[in-house]
Amino acid sequence: MHDTLNRFLFDNTNVRGRHVDLDATWKAALESTDYPAPVREVLGELMAASVLLIGTLKFRGTLKVEARGEGPLSLVVVQASSEKTVRGLARWQGPVPAGGDLEERMGEKGYLVLTLEPADEGQVYQGIVGLEGGSVASALEEYFARSEQLPTRIWLASDGAQAGGLLLQRMPDREEQDPDAWDRTVHLASTLTDRELLDLPPNDLLYRLFHEEEVRVFDPEYVNFRCSCSREKVAGVLRGLGRQEVEETLEQEGEVRVNCEFCGKAYVFDAVDAEQLFANISPSGGSDYRH
Ligand SMILES: [Zn+2]
Repeated sequence: MHDTLNRFLFDNTNVRGRHVDLDATWKAALESTDYPAPVREVLGELMAASVLLIGTLKFRGTLKVEARGEGPLSLVVVQASSEKTVRGLARWQGPVPAGGDLEERMGEKGYLVLTLEPADEGQVYQGIVGLEGGSVASALEEYFARSEQLPTRIWLASDGAQAGGLLLQRMPDREEQDPDAWDRTVHLASTLTDRELLDLPPNDLLYRLFHEEEVRVFDPEYVNFRCSCSREKVAGVLRGLGRQEVEETLEQEGEVRVNCEFCGKAYVFDAVDAEQLFANISPSGGSDYRH
């Protein structure tokens, strides 16, 4: 069973966990772009991590996780929703080193930005942490530690076919029946290999790690790749560019073609479509439509 988010907890302890395994969702994210392996690896890990994180939140809306840097890999952005949809993309230039620390790919000044946007009118929350620590998982762990949130450990892996992740979180102490549980479960989870994380079905993986613990696993939730792009949104961007630029493109190309960076979907506007774009706004262009 693939493309699931699995919630579990350890009975009589304050430790809970999440496991995610992405298959079709991950392959769909790879369809639009031919990513080199070192770029793909970071994107897959960030995608799995984003689903894990949204799976820990009681919240309706979207979580955006961006890794930005000045290295050959300059941007990885993933958006996950409380409906368990996820999409993501990466930008890079030139050869991106394989292996080694994340800093080698993203530069020493790299950082992660986490943005929570509630579906209703609630407040947008944003947090930032440096990419020190060498991996997506360690940067996120550092973020949890620094923002004084719940102690959290994360394990991530991805290859060309799958992306997977495991998260353990220590909830606030109730009466602390089992004070050793956090160290014990983290120690067990640290024996997980990337291959196991990618290959084992959720229940096998939890049994392999925690068969001596009392693990309670809840029904899985299904994760889907879904892009929120639309013709209306693209039309808004074209209005933002202004009538002159759109008409120049029409003259040169015969049509205006915009490909969604997340899913690769093509949106095509011909001369009549373009006329409609600007039918109701002033001839000076669409700067009012910029967001
Ligand atoms: Zn799209």
